[in-house]
Amino acid sequence: MSVRPGAMETDVEGVDQAVSTGSLPEPGQVEAYVAAAYERYRGHDDGLVARYPVLADANPGLFGVAVAETGGAVHTAGDADVEFSIQSISKAFVYALVCEAHGHEIVRDRVGVNNTGLAYNSVMAIELNGGHPMNPMVNAGALATTALVPGATPAEQWERIRTGLSGFAGRQLALDGVVYHGEVVTNQRNRAIARLLESYGRIDLDPLDVVDVYTRQCALNVSTRDLAIMGATLADGGVNPVSGERVVSPGVCRDTLAVLASTGMYERSGEWLFEIGLPAKSGVSGGITAIAPGKGGIGTFSPRLDSAGNSVRGQRATAYLSRTIGLNLFASDVHRSGR
Ligand code: GLU
Repeated sequence: MSVRPGAMETDVEGVDQAVSTGSLPEPGQVEAYVAAAYERYRGHDDGLVARYPVLADANPGLFGVAVAETGGAVHTAGDADVEFSIQSISKAFVYALVCEAHGHEIVRDRVGVNNTGLAYNSVMAIELNGGHPMNPMVNAGALATTALVPGATPAEQWERIRTGLSGFAGRQLALDGVVYHGEVVTNQRNRAIARLLESYGRIDLDPLDVVDVYTRQCALNVSTRDLAIMGATLADGGVNPVSGERVVSPGVCRDTLAVLASTGMYERSGEWLFEIGLPAKSGVSGGITAIAPGKGGIGTFSPRLDSAGNSVRGQRATAYLSRTIGLNLFASDVHRSGR
């Protein structure tokens, strides 16, 4: 096994991957918890709608909650079928598609999976990244990831993303042209990041083409129900539990969830893992997808955000469901049998 200088070496090549998961309560119980989460937080109106073109016009009262089980049952409450642009949540699924196409190693080397790619206490990492660390869930890493999507032209890459994310959702997803055009005229910062990445040799394609494909992926419309099913596909070893289609491999799901656990919720990722205990990704339009490996996916949507950009109602509803359904990956109890 070749080891990159400084890379973590686990020495488990050829060792079979066994899985460690539990089971959900019976579906009627899950349905009741989804309805209760909606009722409990629907009156909460803390937070502000994103000050983004088009997204700023979102109805702040919208609130959808959904759980998709790996067994295929889907439970929804509220505005679970209202569509909105997926925004940064696309980063998680495009990352999975790129890992599927190129393999774990090349993506890890090109994009990185640590919070900064530098030592944990590096001051330079903060300066170099404008306060944001370097991984596939921030824009720099996401642009480098989109650049790796297979396709001979930007149009082919975009179609690969649209088809791939549609596979995760189990239905054909479509671009929101108004959101896309609104971002095309305001994405100067992303264009600057892409140029900088080009100068560091992290993007081999035309950086502006990469930004255009990335802007399209962010403007793909999804519903809360879709987010739950997309999450459940990552929870189900890469098979969409509703359509039965294999979208990515189990290893890609494991890699993607590991990245989400440490980086998916902007600069609150640590707090999120501490409070809720699930890998998740959120986006500036107000969506969150959270994944309980082997069990299912939670989708939430509500446009009012906290100061880090995470939906307030969405994070509360996800926390409630993680607790009541029993999804926190770090929760355990005394093992009583045989004592
Ligand atoms: N399209 C947005 C951007 O890259 C996504 C923002 C987000 O959801 O965090 O600027």
